[in-house]
Amino acid sequence: MTTLMTNTLFSLTRKGFTVHHAATKEAAFELVMKLIPQEASVGFGGSVTVRDLGLYTALKDAGHPVYWHWENDVPKPEVFARAACSDVYLTSSNAITADGCLVNIDGTGNRVGAMIAGPKQVIVIAGVNKLVDGGVPQAIARIKTVACPLNARRLGKDSPCALTGKCDAARCEKSMCNVTSIIERPLGGNKITIVLVDEALGY
Ligand code: SF4
Repeated sequence: MTTLMTNTLFSLTRKGFTVHHAATKEAAFELVMKLIPQEASVGFGGSVTVRDLGLYTALKDAGHPVYWHWENDVPKPEVFARAACSDVYLTSSNAITADGCLVNIDGTGNRVGAMIAGPKQVIVIAGVNKLVDGGVPQAIARIKTVACPLNARRLGKDSPCALTGKCDAARCEKSMCNVTSIIERPLGGNKITIVLVDEALGY
């Protein structure tokens, strides 16, 4: 385990978040599957981490009602609404600071909205690559220089970050960066559970 992982686990725990550590992706998958109550409906945020863990298919095959705009063939607003009303919400975080803040930037806001005011149980899974040895400015810098360019390329966008790897918000006509959230402490009912993984996952 890296020093940054140790420090981040400590900070999140001290703030009162429910935190788990998994050494591998496989261990994270098993853990998350156990954290989700039987028959619970599950909504998903846009997340390469969650996609790569194979959680959608596993939960669907296990009989859970699942709502994800990356998979469901219905209009996005409808899936967003169902995901936000699910029993459990699964997502990652674009960055997590060493002092224990979850930092996210959304284009539509469905993900950050659901994390804050959606399902009563939110599970955030983040690989070691999402940890930032600094505070919120460093987290936002990570998102703008790592997460956004990779996501923009994945989606075939021609935003400045996709083309050059650098943010140029003034020239960005179809921005993916429309809302920024900083979750500093546990929310109502301590609903956010964080699973940190020693391997790289997502962007
Ligand atoms: S504002 Fe535009 S260019 Fe900057 S990171 Fe976001 S999508 Fe990329």
